[in-house]
Amino acid sequence: MTNRRQFIGGLGAFGGLAVLPTEMFPTLMAMEDGAPPTEYKIPPLPYDYKDLEPHIDEATMKVHHDKHHQAYADGLNKALAGLATARDKNDFAAVGSLSRQLAFHAGGFYNHTIFWNNMAPTGKGGGGQPTGKLADAITRDFGGFEKFTAHFTAATVAVEGNGWGVLAYHSALKRLVVVTMMNQQLGLPAGSVPLLMCDVWEHAYYLKYQNKRADYVKAWWNVVNWKDVSARLDAAMG
Ligand code: MN
Repeated sequence: MTNRRQFIGGLGAFGGLAVLPTEMFPTLMAMEDGAPPTEYKIPPLPYDYKDLEPHIDEATMKVHHDKHHQAYADGLNKALAGLATARDKNDFAAVGSLSRQLAFHAGGFYNHTIFWNNMAPTGKGGGGQPTGKLADAITRDFGGFEKFTAHFTAATVAVEGNGWGVLAYHSALKRLVVVTMMNQQLGLPAGSVPLLMCDVWEHAYYLKYQNKRADYVKAWWNVVNWKDVSARLDAAMG
């Protein structure tokens, strides 16, 4: 990796993202000239699989990172290759399906990258409350931290089927919003920059929590890395 550096630009088009600090995206490697990688690879976790215990168990983290996240990277690479082949052959019969596959897997690849970095072991960066500009914005836009967490928790627990709870900064509205995303890509309004994402696909919690999604989301707050969320807000606000 010595001839590579950390770079976000390659995926910016998929999330309506502002330019974000490269050190926040250890996974999104690009060539020195800033071109996107020829193949997307998932990053290692920024902590050990067991480090989010007891809130998120080691077995879940292993399969979630090594298998599920890997599958999104594979799907993203496959969709991009399929679209390149379609252009080469000037055969766009499958372009509708390939476009949907691209959106789904690019979402899954990028969402999980945010998710891993949004978390840290409890007491070692995880848990507690935000400070500074993020805390002020939460108070301004939600009426306080407790109201925000109640709102976010309720919205996230209420996601129907597979999806995510998302705290985003909307670059045009100039405010924080809580929204929910279905699957890996549906429902996030254009202009919003995800800051904090809670995965509520069953693969994120079912081994430990079974059907008790609310218990998982409640426990998840103990591993939220507010420093990471704050850095994302700073970047999104420019
Ligand atoms: Mn997931």
